Amino acid sequence: MRVNLQEIIVGVARWAAQNDTNKNMNRFNNKIVLVTGASRGIGRETARQFAAEGAHVVVHYHRNNEAAMATKRSLAGDNHIIVQADMRDAAGVEEMLNTAVSHYGRLDILINNAGIYEEKSVADSSYAEWQANWRRVIETNLIGAANASFCAAQQMIKQGGGRIVNISSRGAFRGEPTAPAYGASKAGMNGMGQSLAQHLAPYHIFVGTVAPGFVETDMTETHLVGKMGDTIRNQSPLGRVAKPSEVAYAALFLASDEAAFMTGTIIDVNGASYLR
Ligand code: NAP
Repeated sequence: MRVNLQEIIVGVARWAAQNDTNKNMNRFNNKIVLVTGASRGIGRETARQFAAEGAHVVVHYHRNNEAAMATKRSLAGDNHIIVQADMRDAAGVEEMLNTAVSHYGRLDILINNAGIYEEKSVADSSYAEWQANWRRVIETNLIGAANASFCAAQQMIKQGGGRIVNISSRGAFRGEPTAPAYGASKAGMNGMGQSLAQHLAPYHIFVGTVAPGFVETDMTETHLVGKMGDTIRNQSPLGRVAKPSEVAYAALFLASDEAAFMTGTIIDVNGASYLR
């Protein structure tokens, strides 16, 4: 029998590529991942990608139980659970973390994704409205994530490591003229991520942040129609906004072992619509 060297080389290359794909597809085998705001949008897609790579996912939601159940049903694998909490409620956030840890005995990855976007510009609001807006947005987007990070880090220190990934926003850098509280909440999140990355590195807890531009979700639905939608899409030379999956890819990368030395980083996912 004549052995064709070319065929052997192609066979080995195919085997190596397949092996590599299998390795990549199982980056999170049996990891326990809590995704806040996983009932919809970016959080739902992130939960799906983690589950597809072998993780057990804690699907968090605030009000939308139906949507959270739909997320859970759509996840690959098994042993996923649902938890409810208002990110503005410190005790509720602690209970959410405790529920996850008592169910699985550990927590490997926290994704701080839950958030709200509310427009309230200086020129168009009363002082009372302004204060209420800042309180709601900062408490949800920033203090909620800070509390979840604190509670997760307690467990991660005990178990010898973990990952925290924050979903921030391009608005932290570019400015949010009609939603300054939102821009501030995300700038605060960036600073929090960098500070925690430095403090928690000796405990083998790595912290990364993703800063997306516009993404096609419920949050932006009303912005992406008509002329305003075209203007927003044209902010990117690609002429479109991001898909939730494109933000999730970056979040999974930051939660992976490959990104350990990137702790403290902030990754832009904005189609070159704003380059810092
Ligand atoms: P979305 O579709 O509006 O979903 C928001 C999620 O946050 C839902 O799961 C919601 O839960 C949860 N949530 C809202 N208020 C909450 C509260 N008080 N307590 C706990 N959970 C709460 O949002 P998205 O577009 O996927 O955005 C996800 C993250 O990406 C946010 O932090 C957002 O700021 C950031 N981001 C989004 C964009 C974008 O263009 N979409 C761009 C940059 C950054 P329920 O379903 O139960 O209400």
